[in-house]
Amino acid sequence: LKGDVEFIMYYIGVDMGGTKIAVGIVNEKGDIISKDSIPTYRERGYEEVVKDMGLLILRLIKAQKLFVSDFEYIGIGLPGSINKKDGILIYANNFGYHNAPIADELRKYIDLPVFLENDANCAALAENVAGAAIGTQNSITITLGTGVGGGIVVGGKVYSGFNDAAGEIGHTVILSDGKECTCGRKGCWEVYASATGLIAQTKRAAFKNPESLINTLVKGNLDNIDAKTAFDAEREGDKTGSQVVEQYIKYIAEGIIDLINIFTPEVLVVGGGVSKEGENLLGRLKKIVYDNIYFKGEPKTKILEAKMGNDAGIIGAAMIGREG
Ligand SMILES: [Zn+2]
Repeated sequence: LKGDVEFIMYYIGVDMGGTKIAVGIVNEKGDIISKDSIPTYRERGYEEVVKDMGLLILRLIKAQKLFVSDFEYIGIGLPGSINKKDGILIYANNFGYHNAPIADELRKYIDLPVFLENDANCAALAENVAGAAIGTQNSITITLGTGVGGGIVVGGKVYSGFNDAAGEIGHTVILSDGKECTCGRKGCWEVYASATGLIAQTKRAAFKNPESLINTLVKGNLDNIDAKTAFDAEREGDKTGSQVVEQYIKYIAEGIIDLINIFTPEVLVVGGGVSKEGENLLGRLKKIVYDNIYFKGEPKTKILEAKMGNDAGIIGAAMIGREG
């Protein structure tokens, strides 16, 4: 009979953000079985925050009629620099913590190994295990948001470098002596290809071209411009809107071409709010990328829209310990 019983593995993933902590129990396919979240209240300090996290995890396990011993580890994704070996959050803007021993702190409440991972890497792993890059060994996920986040998966594992700091693809320069970046360099990809960059480009274009429909769409107030405005203006036939979008897509392509030339992943996943433009963005992006990548043969890297949505952080975190 034993051979007929399917043994199901469950995993715990935590998406630890500056405002919210989300915990989920995930099966091996990357489906969330149950989840819950609590406010972070980070100003209390990490000890209190991690205690609440631990209690929430225990509550979820109990509600599923499972036991701590049913799990092999807890995975936590968080925004910032980490030391994976020691389970330490070295620094994170969103929390203001320095060298917080998150793993040791959580183990005071739950006797399981605790693994930390950068949240962008978690999102990339989630896309690889259960999302747009499912079934592939090598994929890269980029997220066009406030900045340009990214994660590189090689052989089914997150590639994080010898000091856990790799994958900062937003801070590669596409324009020498370009605009200043928050990292201190000039001309970083994320300055141009992020949603923040697109909004700045749209504002400048609207200001220079008072006749543009962009100004009408935002009722004359440039502060109302968001990452959709230029795309909306273009759809209405606006020339300025179209120029902004064309240039923005070229900026995204520059970085993607570099990534493909270096890594040739099987799939390159594009996520973030801007990716919701779908084929309108991806179709044009692919044309530029495929016309300019070094490799002229087949098969080529597929460029696909991200699939995972808001739960990517939980799912990716739940999978990090499976890397071995
Ligand atoms: Zn930078």
